[in-house]
Amino acid sequence: MTTVSDNIAFKITRKTDGTPAAERESLVANPGFGRAFTDHMAVVTYTEGRGWHSAEILPRQPLMLDPAASVLHYAQEIFEGMKAYRTPNGAVQLFRPEANARRFQKSAERMAMAQLPEDLFLEAVTQLVTIDRDWVPAPEVGTLYIRPFMIATEAALGVKPASEFKFIVIACAAGEYFSKDAGPVSVWVETDTVRASRGGTGTAKCGGNYAASLTAQMEGKEHGCQQVLFLDAEERRWLEEMGGMNVMMVFEDGTLLTPPLAGGTILHGITRDSLLTLARDAGMPVKEERYALDQLFADAKSGKLREVFACGTAAVVSPIGAFKSKTDSCTINNNTVGDVTAKLRQTLCDIQFGRTADPHDWIRTVA
Ligand SMILES: *Cc1c(COP(=O)(O)O)cnc(C)c1O
Repeated sequence: MTTVSDNIAFKITRKTDGTPAAERESLVANPGFGRAFTDHMAVVTYTEGRGWHSAEILPRQPLMLDPAASVLHYAQEIFEGMKAYRTPNGAVQLFRPEANARRFQKSAERMAMAQLPEDLFLEAVTQLVTIDRDWVPAPEVGTLYIRPFMIATEAALGVKPASEFKFIVIACAAGEYFSKDAGPVSVWVETDTVRASRGGTGTAKCGGNYAASLTAQMEGKEHGCQQVLFLDAEERRWLEEMGGMNVMMVFEDGTLLTPPLAGGTILHGITRDSLLTLARDAGMPVKEERYALDQLFADAKSGKLREVFACGTAAVVSPIGAFKSKTDSCTINNNTVGDVTAKLRQTLCDIQFGRTADPHDWIRTVA
């Protein structure tokens, strides 16, 4: 699709009755995850023939949609997840936002949606973070979680790529995704349903992938597990990823291993890529290779497999303490947080929060 955009300037309408400071401060001090929404939103409209137009920062409000809007029927929807971090000196910064903008374009391409120029994506995020900068929590509390997304708004029940879209950015103050005190998570290995298949939409960040993963999550919960691990669709044998996070293994010889992207079924995680880079920086052997479920159970039991963790923007690094499937189970590292897992998490967070040097030029200061 075309990449037309008028030379876009955002029209800013400030919320006049914004959340009172005392209420905001109490929300930002104890935000939970995904409910302490900021006062504003960014909206940009796409119309075929005209391109992207009417860029606005508005008071956060419900959307008006025709009930025939394609997104409601055929799920033409994509999203991103990113964060703004408060540094020790009070500045607000983003982590690799261009990578989110590029991935958004890839997702749009797969879902036959309009291409959003990278600079427009970055400008919308920057404008929203700037106007709502008081919603960015103190670093010891958390981050501002940013959710850019695009929906097909054309009112048409015929199955075809829509000709009208809205790109929207919302944000919320966010604490830890998983409680720190709760320790490592237990993971259910899903063997009935799959998240992605070759040629499918596994590498696109589209809402439908998540809808398809929810029955497995429910099943996992019944077995006392907080997360789900999906296997490949063809052999039901190779580890792919969690419902919304990539997975990494640490072995007794110090090797870090994660499933490869080449099969086209694993989401290209920015956290995944950053951790692989930081591990290489630290001199760790890094492998992107297939790893079988039966091997995981065998290596966990022999002690060869030392640590396993999930990684993604929301939870950053989430240690895994146990796996359960219909036929087997194992414990990882005595259900405690491993040293390599803790070190990698710390190194990444120190860069994201501006507590240490940024050797790979990943940081963008916005406000
Ligand atoms: C977003 C996402 C991830 C993690 O990607 P990050 O860029 O690290 O946040 C992993 N898997 C899936 C399925 C995702 O949607």
